[in-house]
Formats: sequence, C-alpha cells, structure tokens
Amino acid sequence: MIKKIADEIFVSGECYKNLEYLCKKIGQRLTGSAGAEKSVAWTNELMKGYGFDKVYLQEVMVPHWVRGEKETAKVIHTPSGKETEVSITALGGSIATPEKGLRAEVIEVKDFDELKKMGREKIAGKIVFYNYKFDIKKIIPFDMYGEAGKYRYLGPGEAARYGAVGSVVRSMTNYIDDYPHTGSMAYNDSLPKIPACAISTLDAEWLSSELKKDGTTSFYFKMNCQTLPDVKSHNVIGELIGSQYPDEIITIGGHLDSWDLAEGAHDDGAGVMQSVEVLRAMKKIGFKPKRTIRAVMFMNEENGLRGGDEYGRQAELKKEKHILAIESDAGGFTPRGFTMSMPEEKKNKIRSWQKHFQPYGAWDFTRPGGGADIGPLAKIGTPLMGLSPDNQRYFIIHHTAMDVLEQVNKRELEMGAIVMTMMAYFVSEYGL
Ligand SMILES: [Zn+2]
Repeated sequence: MIKKIADEIFVSGECYKNLEYLCKKIGQRLTGSAGAEKSVAWTNELMKGYGFDKVYLQEVMVPHWVRGEKETAKVIHTPSGKETEVSITALGGSIATPEKGLRAEVIEVKDFDELKKMGREKIAGKIVFYNYKFDIKKIIPFDMYGEAGKYRYLGPGEAARYGAVGSVVRSMTNYIDDYPHTGSMAYNDSLPKIPACAISTLDAEWLSSELKKDGTTSFYFKMNCQTLPDVKSHNVIGELIGSQYPDEIITIGGHLDSWDLAEGAHDDGAGVMQSVEVLRAMKKIGFKPKRTIRAVMFMNEENGLRGGDEYGRQAELKKEKHILAIESDAGGFTPRGFTMSMPEEKKNKIRSWQKHFQPYGAWDFTRPGGGADIGPLAKIGTPLMGLSPDNQRYFIIHHTAMDVLEQVNKRELEMGAIVMTMMAYFVSEYGL
C-alpha cells in the first residue's frame, strides 16, 4: 500500500499542478481579499471534481486588513540632511501613518529589557527600532523565529507603552538581504496605536551602523494600510468517509490564506495542496479508509486564526471525535519527519511505523509540535502532529515577495504529500 501511494503521487501526482494554479491563476490570498474568496471557490470545486465523499464550506467571519498603496521609508541624517531610502513593509494589522507620513528621531533597542531601561524619558516621541537578531547558533530556524517573533508581534504595543510614535522591527530572517518580511502584530488595547513596519535585514544592519555615528538620525515612513469591517469567509473541507469507523476523524490541513506580498507558495499553498493530494491519491488507488479522513483548508491563519478557531469550536459543539490532526505549514520542502504533541503511548505507536517512513526521508519523530490551525483541537484532546520538512531555506522567503511557485520544488512537495498520505493511511487502518 505504501508503494502504491508513493507510485501514484510520483507518477500521477497533482499537488504541484494544483499549487501552480493557486499561485499563478489566483495569487495572493490575504484574508478578506478577492484572491482569498477565489481560492475558497476554486478548492471547493477542485475537491468536488475529485469526487470526494463530502465537500463543504464552513462559514467564518474574518478580519479585513488592506495594505493600500505600497509603503515607503527613508532615513535622514541630521545635520547633514542626507536621505537614504530603505526597504520596509507594513505589518499586518498596523494602522497607517498620517497622510504625509511620519517622521521622528529613531532609537535602536536590542530587546524589551533595553526598551524598559530607556523608559519614557528616552523613548517618548521617537520611533523605536527593534534590532533583535535571529540566533543563528540554533539548529532549527523555527526556534530562532519563535524567539525573535515577539518583537514583531508585541513590539509596537510595548513601544507605545513608553510613548513611542512608531515601531520598526528587523525582519524575521536569519539571512541578510533586501526583502522585508511582513507578519501579524497586535496592539495593546489600553495603549495608543502606533504605525508598525518591518525593515529588511540589510537595511537594519545599515541603520544600526548609521546610529553609531555622530549626529541624530530620523526615520520617515508612509504607510497606507487600514482595517475594514470583518467579512464572511470559509474553511473548505473535503472528506473520505470511514468504512468502519466513520465517526473517528483524521484532520489533515494547511491554511488557504496567505500574505499579500507574493503568491503564498510555501506558506501555505504547499500545505493545502498536499492535504488535498492525500485524499486524491487514496481515492485514485481505490483505498477506502476505515476511519474518516478530512482535508481542511483553513482560512485566516496569518492574521487572526479565525478559521482554526471556528473549526475547533464546531468540533467541540458537534462532539466530534478527532483521533489525529496533521498540519503542513512549514514549507513545501523535503520531509524530515513529524512533530508530535500527544501522550507518550500514542507517540510510541506512531514511532513503531517509523521504518516505513524512513526510505522517504521522514525519520525524525522526536520533536514536539502541531500547528497553529489545528491548535484549537487540543481543547478536545486531539493528538496533534506537524509535517516537519527541512526548513533551513524557509526564512529566505517567509512572508516576503519571494514566496512564489518558483521557490517550490515539485519532487520535494510530492515527498511531503507521500509521507502525509502514509501517515493518514496508518492511522485510518490501525487507529491511534
Ligand atoms: Zn503559514
């Protein structure tokens, strides 16, 4: 059966072709955008066309943030008056700057401790520049991201606490280049909202060196983003219904929405198309799962998680029995293994199948983890799992204009789909 699955995906796989359509015919899918709605309609039709047992939409209200005209920024050295353009991107959820832009003295901090030490006295009226670097001594890039990410997400709120008028964060990457990385951020409701952007790592390094010189340095940026009222959208769900235990559900998914700077190819077009491929391949080879297998395309992982929350809420409300949830949202690269968050005896049962995965490159079943969209299922005790690919190159493209189809390798994407299908096969046959 494992060979049958692999042969089908290697020879007649459709996940890359589907990803190509999603990226090139639909493009960016930021929640609330026309692209997001097109992707809902298209994946719904796609799964119906494959003849899955059930295909349906799950309604969810989602935030609607728009970037508007592309943002601009420059650094102004005083007293020389020399101006230098820098590469920035607005963070998702940020307010706009005033129409004429915002200019203020910029002050660098390396972390929240330093910000706190400077306090209101040094911060008030200024633009805070968080220059927290990825710790490249860490082996796993997601661990670097996990640590640095708080400066993007919480930085603007913390800067406002001390009276800052704007917030600039070093882009979330271990590489030095000129691509700014967007991503979500949250304001602190009891504090003023200030415009927040990310600056490319190349410009962050340069700005930091400028700030060490004599004189003062101002930062100017103009952003045109805004938050519109929530809109109605959907998770898209396809099912193969279990032949023996239809009430036992295995959820496999990724998120359909993406940031608006590119095509959301790795993040997370890859994951949703792999999830559809699991069901397609099973159906094509005539495998009838004992337990129900669901492919779920979650809406709004990037800036709200409303789709994941709603899916979890409905599962709880309907008292559904989810025996496993697998998420693929770490890039469409060669699989290395699966992360697991579940009781030890379940981990051990999965590890007993390890030798079958090994030839396909998935050998690492040691690390904890699930996924953002499936996270809410933990509340009803669902064992969680994440596809864990080689992600050493992921933060070149993550949340940037570089996240396009050309960055995804067809064979690597298929390898991921194969091991996901294998995992769904084992659990549907033998339970967990
Ligand atoms: Zn993602």
